[in-house]
Amino acid sequence: MSFAGGKPMHCLSFDVEEHFQVSAFWSEARRQRWDKYESRVENNTRKLIELLAQHDTKATFFVLGWVAERYPGLVKVLVGQGHEIASHGYGHELVTTQSPEQFRHDVRRAKYILEDMTGSPVLGYRAPSFSITKDTLWALPILVEEGYLYDSSVFPIVHDRYGMPGAIATCHEIATSAGPLWEIPLSTAKIAGCRIPVAGGGYFRLFPYTLLRWLLRRVEGTGQPLVIYLHPWELDPAQPRMSGPLLSQFRHYLNLGKTERRLSSMLDDFSFGPLRDLLGEIRSVTCSSPCESECRIPSALPAGR
Ligand SMILES: [Zn+2]
Repeated sequence: MSFAGGKPMHCLSFDVEEHFQVSAFWSEARRQRWDKYESRVENNTRKLIELLAQHDTKATFFVLGWVAERYPGLVKVLVGQGHEIASHGYGHELVTTQSPEQFRHDVRRAKYILEDMTGSPVLGYRAPSFSITKDTLWALPILVEEGYLYDSSVFPIVHDRYGMPGAIATCHEIATSAGPLWEIPLSTAKIAGCRIPVAGGGYFRLFPYTLLRWLLRRVEGTGQPLVIYLHPWELDPAQPRMSGPLLSQFRHYLNLGKTERRLSSMLDDFSFGPLRDLLGEIRSVTCSSPCESECRIPSALPAGR
C-alpha cells in the first residue's frame, strides 16, 4: 500500500452502465428495448467526474462497450481527466450465462472498442454482477489470452446472485493455464469470523456512513488496500423506476439520494487511485530492476507513487 499526503492509497472504481442494464432487472424483453429507454449514463458519469475533480482523485472506470460506442466523447473526457479506462465487457451478459466462445467474443469486442477510442491498452476487466464464480473459472485463462492483465470480478462473500465464499480476499496473482493474471477482489471486512461486504454498491448505501467508515478503517488497519465500486446510476435518485422483484427494487433504489454526499465524505476520509496503480505499486515492491519477463507487469504501468 502506498501513501499520498500521509494517507494510505486505496482503489476506487465505477462500473459504467445504464440504470436499465443492471442484472437484477434483466429480462430478454428489456434487453431488446435498451435503445428505447431514456439514457442517463452520460450525465451521471459527468457528475462523478466533477466530484472526483473536486477531490483531486483518479479512479478506474470499467466501461461497458455498449456505452462507449454511444458516448465516445465521455470516454475521451475520462481519459483527459487522467482516469483509467477498463472493460466491463460489451453487452452486460453474465459470465454464468455465456459459453466460453461467447465470453471471448464479448471481452474481445469491448477491449477493441475501448482501445481504439483511447489509444491505450485496456488492462483490467470486471464481470457484470461479479459473475466470475467457482463455476466460471474457465473465463480467467480467456482473459489472459485476450490480453487482460488483471481481473476485479471476485467478491469473496456469500450472496444469492454472485460471490465466491472462501476465495482469497486480497490482491494476488493467479497462475491460469494461459499464463498469469492478477486478481483484485472487492473489499470485505472480517467480523467475528464472517466476511462482510464493504466494497460499495448496495452495501455503501445500506450502512450508515459512520458504520461504513469504521468497517473501511478496519480493513485499512490490516494493511490491505480498499477496493471500492459504485455505478453512475447510484448518484441519480430521479432515475425512472423499473418493475422487478421486490428485493431487487429495494437494493437498487435504497438511499440513492445519499450516495453523492457519502461518496464525497469517503473521498475526504480516504485516499484513492485507479486499480492499475495498485499493480504498479506491487511492481515497485517486487521488482528491483526492469524485468518484464520475470514480474510480468508491463513497464508501461506506473511504478508506484
Ligand atoms: Zn454492471
